[in-house]
Amino acid sequence: MIKTEEKCRLCGRELEKDEIALTKKLINRGAVEFLCIGCLAEHFEVSRETLVRKIAEFREAGCTLFDRTAE
Ligand SMILES: [Zn+2]
Repeated sequence: MIKTEEKCRLCGRELEKDEIALTKKLINRGAVEFLCIGCLAEHFEVSRETLVRKIAEFREAGCTLFDRTAE
């Protein structure tokens, strides 16, 4: 997981790149505030596991928001 400078808007936890990408994908591509996976799960009333699986799906689909390799 790649850490970033961004923090979750709700809980303040440091975010990973995938969480930022997921926020963009699920909420708004132009989002400037991001949520961690736990807060996203609560927001959408789904399990964390569902979102982890979503990240994998988006990555497999070749979504450019999700990096395949560490930078
Ligand atoms: Zn959070």
